[in-house]
Amino acid sequence: MDTNRARLRIQELKEVLWENSRKYYVDNAPTMSDFEYDSLMHELEELEAAYPEFADPDSPTRRVGSDLEGQGNGINAEPAVRKEFAQYPHRYPMLSLSNTYSIEELEAFAQRAEKEIGRSFTYCCELKFDGTAICLEYKDGKLFRALTRGDGTVGDDVTENVKRIANIPKQLKGDYPEDLEIRGEILMPYDAFDRLNAERELNEDPPFANPRNAASGSLKLLDPEEVAHRGLWCTLYHIPSESMFYETHDEALKSAASWGLPVSDFRKICKSIAEIEEFINHWDTERKSLPYATDGIVIKINEAAFQRELGFTSKFPRWAVAYKFKAESALTPVLSIDYQVGRTGAVTPVANLEPVLLSGTMVKRATLNNADQMELLDIRVGDFVHVEKGGEIIPKITSVEKSMRREGLVKPVFPSVCPDCGHPLVKEEGEAKWFCPNSDSCPTQIKGRILHFCGRKAMNILAGEATIDQLFRLGLINTPADLYELKTRDLLLLDGWKEKSASRFLDSLAESKSTAFERVLFAIGIRYVGETTAKELAKQFKTVDALASATKEQLLEIGDVGEVIAQSVVDFFSDERHIAEIKRLKAFGLKLAVESEAQASSDVLAGLTIVISGNFSIPRDSMKALIEANGGKNSSSISSKTSFLLAGSKPGPEKLKKCEALGVRIIDEESFMAMLPASPEAAEESTDNSIKTADSTRNEPEELTLFA
Ligand code: NAD
Repeated sequence: MDTNRARLRIQELKEVLWENSRKYYVDNAPTMSDFEYDSLMHELEELEAAYPEFADPDSPTRRVGSDLEGQGNGINAEPAVRKEFAQYPHRYPMLSLSNTYSIEELEAFAQRAEKEIGRSFTYCCELKFDGTAICLEYKDGKLFRALTRGDGTVGDDVTENVKRIANIPKQLKGDYPEDLEIRGEILMPYDAFDRLNAERELNEDPPFANPRNAASGSLKLLDPEEVAHRGLWCTLYHIPSESMFYETHDEALKSAASWGLPVSDFRKICKSIAEIEEFINHWDTERKSLPYATDGIVIKINEAAFQRELGFTSKFPRWAVAYKFKAESALTPVLSIDYQVGRTGAVTPVANLEPVLLSGTMVKRATLNNADQMELLDIRVGDFVHVEKGGEIIPKITSVEKSMRREGLVKPVFPSVCPDCGHPLVKEEGEAKWFCPNSDSCPTQIKGRILHFCGRKAMNILAGEATIDQLFRLGLINTPADLYELKTRDLLLLDGWKEKSASRFLDSLAESKSTAFERVLFAIGIRYVGETTAKELAKQFKTVDALASATKEQLLEIGDVGEVIAQSVVDFFSDERHIAEIKRLKAFGLKLAVESEAQASSDVLAGLTIVISGNFSIPRDSMKALIEANGGKNSSSISSKTSFLLAGSKPGPEKLKKCEALGVRIIDEESFMAMLPASPEAAEESTDNSIKTADSTRNEPEELTLFA
């Protein structure tokens, strides 16, 4: 390669690697496999070594990928990610690990170490847990701070979220050191991951590609309570040898375990490459039965003194290396192909497979995405296919094993009519998918829309697939608004329903009426309008009427909204049936405008950190929004920095106790509302107290008549 071509290739590789590093660490939505990423990194390392004149201290070969916010491209797979965390420097840099996929390179690592150390030493072999790195600081035995790796020098403070992870002790036990820094990995076990993605699928949010991305996205959520719900797990594997004295790494981990910290027992002290290889081979099979993802084995020099001697490069410790497992794949036959209709009418081909165990879960189905993908794979029922679940945990058929194809297998024909209602399918320009346009009477679409409306992230109504299916078959519901017409006598017609279940369902319907506008907007199911876009539209347009009369140009002015979404919103509101449905929802008392709009821009709470606890006259999320809208900051735990506890009915006793201990003020809802400026409408209509100003119906501007 001539020098000029090398220069251009180095530049190109750097750009591709930085871009993909951002997608991986910040957006948690990688589009490249790890193997591909590592191969490109390897190519760059070799080119930089061959052409040292192009060396660059900022090259991805010399810096760890950064998870700090503000470095992503804004397409985060996790919508409710907090954009700003306090950041603190790491006492000791948090680095990556040099990695290899080959035993030969591992041998080269061992030879280098032997040569440099020149005395006998041992290796500590551990599992390489596939999550996101965390650094925990304990002061006097109490969990003081948790930082992400960040850019290796500075990390995001995620302490409040980490406190919601069940197996991380907030208080150490035994003979712990006064000041402890320990590092490890936050993981999302497979069962929690499957649950989360099933929920996201229901809400039509993009699923997380793998548990690593899900763990890392969850760790940066805005709401610590939501983090608690995510079922994250932690395992710790490193006390920086510069930070405290111990003879060996293994001894440090044993001590950590004795202080109540979660440390894995799956490690082995090895003396030779042969023993390391045995450990690798054992775990390459055995890891498939673990409840969480691992992507390799980490081999560390065990003696702390030798670790210190070997030191670090700008990116890696020189005393450790990661051997990475190749993405898991399996070969299994295709039993049949289904064509599934979604709530928007999109038809997705799905292959039913002979069940096969892959990365800890039994794979029975794999999406084929669309007709073009089927054509590209040239897949047939009866074919043996390679299924992968490596970087992309959603099982993916990577290829058909043509050498095993039996004679006579027939090429599948993509249906021309809807498999559910028989209506002819259409394919719009620029779309990869076929659609059933019969949105009015295609049963799957109708039920899908209602199910979406009831979802946890939407109206949170207690009705699952089976209930909606029965209500639909009984002719009791055809649109979401029909739910609000249901009476106890209707519900008693459902299999196994008694007075109690009916009343619980009706209660959840009544409660759903206080759902914030942005979630109602998400719930009504405008095509392409996911949670994040709904939030943005609610923020910009404030009322459903304003949104309904927005032009495409006005919609395009909003950051998140492109051509496709803008057109979809305009099309939605130009349909008389949708207008009629929204009128009905409004008549049932759903919130179709932003709450307490008139109060939205005060700064009376500026500089105050407020913790809320208990139940209020408005949903807790709305109360938090009200605090932020008036310049205050929400926090989830009481500390000396808390300005006051806003207590509703039944506040948490622990929180009250802590307030008492720290002398933090407690304020009730009524007094709090009185602190806020009254909205103009409320001032006109009421003089009693400002709780009522939170009632959205009062804040709708008068000219709104479209859905009156
Ligand atoms: P890494 O994940 O390869 O290895 C280092 C990390 O391993 C440490 O930071 C630590 O968090 C973790 N780890 C797990 N178990 C451990 C143990 N027992 N002891 C010590 N550490 C342990 O390194 P990285 O810097 O986090 O990520 C780089 C890798 O990420 C790349 O090699 C690539 O595979 C992947 N990546 C992929 C893309 C993509 O687009 N697919 C983009 C960027 C990075």
